[in-house]
Amino acid sequence: MIKIALIAHDGKKADMVSFILANQSFLKGTKLYATGTTGKHIANEGFEVVKLLSGPLGGDAQIATMVATGEIDAVFFFRDPLDKHPHEPDVQMLMRQCDVHNVPLATNPKAAHYLLKGIRDTVD
Ligand code: PGA
Repeated sequence: MIKIALIAHDGKKADMVSFILANQSFLKGTKLYATGTTGKHIANEGFEVVKLLSGPLGGDAQIATMVATGEIDAVFFFRDPLDKHPHEPDVQMLMRQCDVHNVPLATNPKAAHYLLKGIRDTVD
């Protein structure tokens, strides 16, 4: 089963909910992990999701570790470039680990659309 990590900064959580609802038939056949608050929004929409710590408390770092240890196949991280984030070092670490381990990362909804399409086409 494909393992997917979902993260959205506060200003992008509505976009994340729209994204998962638009792709629910495919995503419900995957194993989902999310940072804490993002995970709550996802669970509220009826998805099964493993909720990690909230991002500022270490959730992004947990996902970075999972990327490093081969437990995540793709990361969808809707970042808000217009806001400040106390855990920016963790965000940078997560993106770096994706690059170190060649794990695909989409940081905005349009990139997410094309990445998910690519994953679906590969699986079909
Ligand atoms: P959250 O964390 O899902 O707990 O809000 C996301 C983030 O800010 O990295």
